[in-house]
Amino acid sequence: MKKWFLLLLAFLCLNVLTAFENIDRKDRAYYEKTGYIIWEVKTDQKKIALTFDDGPDQNSTTEILDLLEQYGAKATFFVVGNKVRNNPELLRREYNEGHEIGNHTYKHLHLNRQVSLDAIQEEIEQTGNEIMNITGQYPTLFRPPGGVYTEESVQLIKQLGYKTILWSWHQDTNDWRHPGTQKIINKVLTNARNGDIVLMHDFNPGTKQTVNALKIILPALVERGFELVTVSELLNSAETELQFPEELK
Ligand SMILES: [Zn+2]
Repeated sequence: MKKWFLLLLAFLCLNVLTAFENIDRKDRAYYEKTGYIIWEVKTDQKKIALTFDDGPDQNSTTEILDLLEQYGAKATFFVVGNKVRNNPELLRREYNEGHEIGNHTYKHLHLNRQVSLDAIQEEIEQTGNEIMNITGQYPTLFRPPGGVYTEESVQLIKQLGYKTILWSWHQDTNDWRHPGTQKIINKVLTNARNGDIVLMHDFNPGTKQTVNALKIILPALVERGFELVTVSELLNSAETELQFPEELK
């Protein structure tokens, strides 16, 4: 009898939790329509945005920058504030070579409900200031670490002057798990289409898989006629202009 009661209680708790989850996190269609979160861009132009997260880092960033330069590609680096502090010269090089710098919090903070909005704001502002001190420009793009967000954090990010950028679901290379160079190559080249935002990492301690994959990916995409652009340039190529209303409805 007691066992049944406990089971029932567990079932009810689960339902309540799921309901909260649904209230807190609206679906993709809603965020896409409002323009608050961008996964990819609808465009008939042959443009793709490569993005690199979690750097700048001594192990891979320099080689990635060399490869981008070699193939005339521009990319977007979503940088972590404390890494910027340790590697200002790498950030300066990213910026000077025409790449876009996005904010990825100060300590790779996951924006879940356990974290206060004040803490989130502090991390974002701290990182924005680090970037500003080196490049003379505040970033306008933000990517939440791990792709984790709540409705409140998305609203805060917008109030702080940022667009929230995720990535095309078919272009998640999972390179941070070190799946093997060939798997990273296949993921990008098999799925490549106009308006894609590709997720990669330039913080990959102990491996060169991302760098080695780029040696194949970059010439192949250029050969197919794709222009590799920053996320902001990709957004400018959108078929319909994105609307950013004042309030989340
Ligand atoms: Zn990250």
